[in-house]
Amino acid sequence: MKEQTSFLVTTMNKSIDYFEHYDKHLIIFDFDETLCHNPSAKVYIRNNRTDQTIEMSPTEYSSWRSTDEYEKNKSDWEMNFEEFQNYPKNGKPITSTVEKLKHYASRDHYVVALVTGRDNLIGPKKWMSDFYIPINKITMHCSGSPDKRNCFRSLINTFEPMHVTIYEDSVEYIEQCQEICAFFEIPFSGVLVKDGVIKINWRKNDTKS
Ligand SMILES: [Mg+2]
Repeated sequence: MKEQTSFLVTTMNKSIDYFEHYDKHLIIFDFDETLCHNPSAKVYIRNNRTDQTIEMSPTEYSSWRSTDEYEKNKSDWEMNFEEFQNYPKNGKPITSTVEKLKHYASRDHYVVALVTGRDNLIGPKKWMSDFYIPINKITMHCSGSPDKRNCFRSLINTFEPMHVTIYEDSVEYIEQCQEICAFFEIPFSGVLVKDGVIKINWRKNDTKS
């Protein structure tokens, strides 16, 4: 019995050291147009005053929402997200970011998260599984709105990372993540993905990969 107790104490001490040893780095991936290229899928925005319907890509939609046009008079608008509520049928993996995700997910000192603006995870999970993306290594969150700040805040509170990197196709979401990291005083890196290619990498020289 005595031996058992000392074994337990040793294990617990080891466990604490284990976590202190690592410089935990949280890597956040968006889903649509960051991991999954599906250019034919659109958001449909109908203006009830003019009876006109505008087609937008998810990136265009998040830019439009940041203009506050919708907030000014919500009843003027009707939105149809149907093409982003299910399995992305024509979705092709964006190899450069998918490979990054697999790399990080296979290493202990990275915490890999998916933060999507979708309102459910069924489609993305099935799609990722079909393309051998290790979904069991990823913590997944959907904001269900063009404000992902709550997801970013919750991830930082949960994992207390030393550094945050986000892969996104939308500048608005990169800025939201940067804002939350600044609040928690955590070093931040943003990587912009456009048309299936990593375009701009805002990593600073003093940050880790
Ligand atoms: Mg996106």
